[in-house]
Amino acid sequence: MNIHANDGISQSGVDALTQAGFTITTTNVAQEQLVDYINENNIVGLLVRSATTARKELIDACPGLKLIGRGGVGMDNIDVAYAREKGLHVINTPAASSASVAELVFAHLFGAVRFLYDANRNMPLDGETKFKALKKAYAGGIELRGKTLGIIGFGRIGQATAKIALGLGMDVAAYDPFMKEATVAVDFFNGQSVDIAIKTRSFDEVLAQSDFITLHVPAQDKPTIGAAELSKMKKGAGLINAARGGVVDEKALAEALDSEHLAFAALDTFVNEPTPAIKLLMHPKISLTPHIGAATKEAQDRIGTELAQQISELLG
Ligand code: NAD
Repeated sequence: MNIHANDGISQSGVDALTQAGFTITTTNVAQEQLVDYINENNIVGLLVRSATTARKELIDACPGLKLIGRGGVGMDNIDVAYAREKGLHVINTPAASSASVAELVFAHLFGAVRFLYDANRNMPLDGETKFKALKKAYAGGIELRGKTLGIIGFGRIGQATAKIALGLGMDVAAYDPFMKEATVAVDFFNGQSVDIAIKTRSFDEVLAQSDFITLHVPAQDKPTIGAAELSKMKKGAGLINAARGGVVDEKALAEALDSEHLAFAALDTFVNEPTPAIKLLMHPKISLTPHIGAATKEAQDRIGTELAQQISELLG
């Protein structure tokens, strides 16, 4: 049986599928040629990440298709309900990237409290001539240990982020309207593990008590953090959005940074991807990455092998 991964798949995924007896192709086919490619090559399983779409028209035009798989979490690019109605399997890998996103949150956080995002912009320009001035400008950083990390949305990624925070000696203030308590297992390299029960707090408590807030909610119709919520945060706090563009009101965020109410922000996701607002890209107090939360080798390997396992179970 033929599987086509239009946005690519890890070598581990290719190997696992090949071993299970599938033939796998990974050439990227342009969206408008995909229907013909699927039909001409008797593809039964189409795998996508976020670039390729699998809409109603494609589903209708490819009667041989039995499965659509999304490597990753969000399935906004697939007409999931329609595909299932038509008897197709629709699968994804919701847990595979949680640890990678959580580590990116901390990459931003460690960088932000020592001004690395700004030092990396200015050292190439002025490091040779204004070393002492820059040294002074970037003194006064702070440590993460002992601080409170607010986590809004305490699902898979929220809890993966809590594990790192707890390991660092931070307090975790979690808010999730659908959860009262969660037990987070903090795992160590030698196999030891410590279970820590975290009771969620009210939204207002988390806003008021946190030194930094990180968002891990699903895509929302309206921003979870807007001007009113920002004003309830501690002065000098930091905000991180590696969830989805739009869960933070970007205009209100820029204003909170300009007025020095917030000390910094870190953004991996943006309202207008792939052309984010230039004001955010140019802002000196924002640590930036281009939506790479899940883009580690380990997460891509887990995504590939998890997809292969599910495909073998469903179609093998
Ligand atoms: P999840 O479903 O496991 O957790 C989301 C949690 O948010 C749930 O516990 C839910 O109860 C809670 N929630 C829903 N609405 C809320 C609200 N208004 N306020 C507070 N909590 C609310 O999802 P996850 O796997 O942890 O993913 C979280 C987010 O991360 C998603 O938006 C996903 O798209 C995003 N994500 C980003 C990247 C990246 O590359 N940056 C990668 C993977 C996932």
